[in-house]
Amino acid sequence: MSATARRHRRAAGSYRATQALRQAAGKPVVSLGTSGPYEALRQGDVMFMLARPMPGMAPELAAAIRLRRDATITGTCPSCGARRHGGPPRPGHPASAFFMHDEDCPAGDRAIDELVERTGWTGTA
Ligand SMILES: [Zn+2]
Repeated sequence: MSATARRHRRAAGSYRATQALRQAAGKPVVSLGTSGPYEALRQGDVMFMLARPMPGMAPELAAAIRLRRDATITGTCPSCGARRHGGPPRPGHPASAFFMHDEDCPAGDRAIDELVERTGWTGTA
């Protein structure tokens, strides 16, 4: 496949993901089950595989995980207002996304990394 064909294929995949997210917005979110620290959620035709609050997790870490989940599902961070952006394609993933959270947002990577470190969370209950 040529570089141009790959670029067009990625653009088409990104467009389909954006359309699916738009059509899923506001529909009920249904849990499909958990696998370790992750939970599969379905909203319309979109499936999310997201970190989940777990038993034994420090309350502030569980709250940060909930904020992050809400941001991913709604497309807007409820804490800092960051919006979802399409991410680069990853092998085995039809779509990925990222947020540019504010520096002090509890749902951001740095804050969650610090909470994991500070609370000693190991990822198992
Ligand atoms: Zn945020």
